[in-house]
Amino acid sequence: MNEQAYRNYLKSRKSSHKTNYYLLSLKELEQNHKEFPAKPRLLLHACCAVCASYPLEFLANHFQLTVYYNNSNIWPKEEYDRRLSELRRYLSETDPSIELITTPYHHEAYMKPLEPMKDDPEGFGRCFYCYAVRMNEAFAYAETHGFDFFTTVMSISRQKDSQKMNEIGKSLSRLHPTVRYFYSDFKKGGGQVRKDELSALHGLYRQDYCGCEYSWKNTHPDTCL
Ligand code: SF4
Repeated sequence: MNEQAYRNYLKSRKSSHKTNYYLLSLKELEQNHKEFPAKPRLLLHACCAVCASYPLEFLANHFQLTVYYNNSNIWPKEEYDRRLSELRRYLSETDPSIELITTPYHHEAYMKPLEPMKDDPEGFGRCFYCYAVRMNEAFAYAETHGFDFFTTVMSISRQKDSQKMNEIGKSLSRLHPTVRYFYSDFKKGGGQVRKDELSALHGLYRQDYCGCEYSWKNTHPDTCL
């Protein structure tokens, strides 16, 4: 790992020059209401039911939603299936009309390019790559299927840097010019509290690690893989 790059990154996180992506999302919604006569179509990348709960509620008033579950980062397969099945249950209990698209699970191939970054602290280079790969896949799907917008639920996580997430979204949008990236910071505007309420209300399974084996090892340091 490049220690200096990591130190620079930590320093940049403390900077006061941060974009308020929550306010930006509100402005964008206002603009959409003027621009689109009917609700535009948005493809929402979701990593699990807990993280998807509040973003779905927030976005449903403004968009016609489709959920996209492409998370080959999750290990092991049973965990991937469990998160998917909880997401399916949550949609069936809240809005069964929302379509859920899934992609094949290919964990080994997915993790290959991440291996050289295995010693990165969680929330740094390896994770930025991991967000970008899944977001790019979903963006590409949105483009080939005529969606107006794409975004991800991941900015709701306290462990994930929403500035970075939105920067990645912005740069990926250049590769997919027919789809707009919807900027977000779902933690804000009461999103974090509402996520906890919805999770409790629906008895959602809450995992204690991000997804890959490296993150599992982080939260279970005394267990051998
Ligand atoms: S910790 Fe999470 S975001 Fe980071 S590489 Fe693992 S699964 Fe991806």
